[in-house]
Amino acid sequence: MKQGTTYEVAEVAKLLGIHRNTVRRWLKEGLGAIDDRRPLLIHGSALKAFLAKRRESRRHTCRPGEFYCFRCRVPRAPWGATADVSFRNEKVARLAALCASCGTPMHRTVRRADLPALGALIDLHTLAPERMNGCSDPNANRAFEEV
Ligand SMILES: [Zn+2]
Repeated sequence: MKQGTTYEVAEVAKLLGIHRNTVRRWLKEGLGAIDDRRPLLIHGSALKAFLAKRRESRRHTCRPGEFYCFRCRVPRAPWGATADVSFRNEKVARLAALCASCGTPMHRTVRRADLPALGALIDLHTLAPERMNGCSDPNANRAFEEV
């Protein structure tokens, strides 16, 4: 890809080994053509910038079961594949976990409707409000529950 060159959609597709429709979708998503005339021409530097931005945003997008670690600056799996769940309201839950890589606390807000799917990927521990404020020994509470 030459930065000083302009490319047609078909040329970009061929260059990157992707479908023309993908390039057309990129044009809608913000890849700038040099003007509105047909055929659309895309400047090499615009293409390069678009691809870099796209890579960056993809890197920061957490897959289900991942959290964004601010220290690692990438999405990370939670340590022990577990996360604590606290409920914000009837629709939103907040997950807390530790980065599997560096141990930094990570947080993520999810829809409660997504919790069952998430629970298939990681262990979700629900924190009951009274348990968070009250008893400092979780085992005491657990023993109580099992009676
Ligand atoms: Zn980390």
